[in-house]
Amino acid sequence: MDMAVEAGVIKQHLIDPEICIRCNTCEAICPVNAITHDDNNYVVRADICNGCMACISPCPTGSIDNWRTMPLVRAYTIEEQLTWEELPAELTPEQLEAAGVSAEAAGDPAAAAPALTQAQAQAAIEPAFNSAQYGATVPPWSAAHAYTNLFPPKTPTTATVVGNFNCTEAGFDSETHHIVLDFGVVPFPVLEGQSIGIVPPGVDAIGKRHHARQYSVASPRNGERPGYNNVSLTVKRVTEDHEGDPVRGVCSNYVCDLKVGDTVHVVGPFGASFLMPNHPKSHIVMICTGTGSAPMRAMTEWRRRLRKSGKFEGGKLMLFFGARTQQELPYFGPLQSLPKDFIDINLAFSRTPGQPKRYVQDLMRERAADLAALLKDGSSHFYVCGLKSMEEGVVLALRDVAKDVGLDWDTVGAALKREGRLHLETY
Ligand SMILES: Cc1cc2nc3c(=O)[nH]c(=O)nc-3n(C[C@H](O)[C@H](O)[C@H](O)COP(=O)(O)OP(=O)(O)OC[C@H]3O[C@@H](n4cnc5c(N)ncnc54)[C@H](O)[C@@H]3O)c2cc1C
Ligand code: SF4
Ligand code: SF4
Repeated sequence: MDMAVEAGVIKQHLIDPEICIRCNTCEAICPVNAITHDDNNYVVRADICNGCMACISPCPTGSIDNWRTMPLVRAYTIEEQLTWEELPAELTPEQLEAAGVSAEAAGDPAAAAPALTQAQAQAAIEPAFNSAQYGATVPPWSAAHAYTNLFPPKTPTTATVVGNFNCTEAGFDSETHHIVLDFGVVPFPVLEGQSIGIVPPGVDAIGKRHHARQYSVASPRNGERPGYNNVSLTVKRVTEDHEGDPVRGVCSNYVCDLKVGDTVHVVGPFGASFLMPNHPKSHIVMICTGTGSAPMRAMTEWRRRLRKSGKFEGGKLMLFFGARTQQELPYFGPLQSLPKDFIDINLAFSRTPGQPKRYVQDLMRERAADLAALLKDGSSHFYVCGLKSMEEGVVLALRDVAKDVGLDWDTVGAALKREGRLHLETY
């Protein structure tokens, strides 16, 4: 037997295309850039993945936790994986044997060493600031228990639309809708910070049924209407792609055009770490842009209901909220009516005519003294949600605020991650 082939066995890391909802979480979090995608599938490069497991718990569907024992020379290529509609089965012992891999070698984890060495070498020379490395994959210690994947992508449930209105100012290019979905008697418990998937009807350009798109829940745990089995979403109509070219987003337009009484297919709930703390003295700092406000609305509303019923004491709420203009900021009106002693609101607009551009990180630097005090307090929790492009600037601003008051960022950043106190959800 050829020992060189026998040694070359890997546990190949694969993504299940049937349940992946293409949310990009894994690609954003992988420290060695082993994950890539096209319009069809998310895939893992066998020669780069080092099996570090950083992507496993943040994946909302579990589709990323698939491994196949493969002879290194026959590892599935990126090109092959991009065409898959379902995962291939494990090779049988006979197939492995035929490829020169004995049963002992197939079961030997050390055999994955060739892929490991290359990836580790790449990681070691990676100098760039990686904001994602500070994002927690565990919830705050006082978070309530979250149910996940009650309805996986293969078996969606149905909800009825009971509300749909534009929650930005009418007549502007950017339009964001507040949608309320009712689950009737179907158990669909969600917590603030979780998301759900909506499956748009129809098929894509290559005739495959559309995959689900993920939307953060904008309502608190006891419903958009308290005591009802309903959730709300904040959905922006996508009319241009990230490059600014005109495109009609499949799911966002479907959702924004739904009428009261329509039914939709829903998967989820997703998310077990971007959850709010529940201990009374916990402080919540919310940093968001656009529809990233959805989980912040949910957390704020839950705290508001608790306070109204006299069940909340102490913890601060601080919000940094960015949009291009005031007219494009979802929930601008309702936000204004929240009491000043309940929430500290900071708004940044980047495209107000005649005004200098301001981003959320600019506001954070202006409020450095207050943020530094919160960074020193172990009861503070930081949530970042919205455009992918905001993430690095926000984490860098937090780092600089810490450094400017003599805090060691490596210590603070590591504690925020370990204690589930810095959560990043950007898309
Ligand atoms: C964890 C998570 C939470 C999310 N929460 C929300 C939410 O609360 N509200 C919300 O509206 N969206 C949210 N999204 C984004 C949402 O899942 C969809 O990606 C978005 O609605 C676009 O889907 P689409 O089918 O309309 O566009 P697609 O048909 O999938 O895409 C059309 C084109 O537009 C580009 N594109 C996709 N999204 C955007 C965008 N936002 N801006 C510019 N171009 C885009 C695509 O790259 C593509 O070129 C979330 C995503 C994730 C991963
Ligand atoms: S296991 Fe680690 S290296 Fe592999 S894809 Fe996941 S995050 Fe990347
Ligand atoms: S569902 Fe999981 S595997 Fe699919 S893109 Fe999201 S994180 Fe990656």
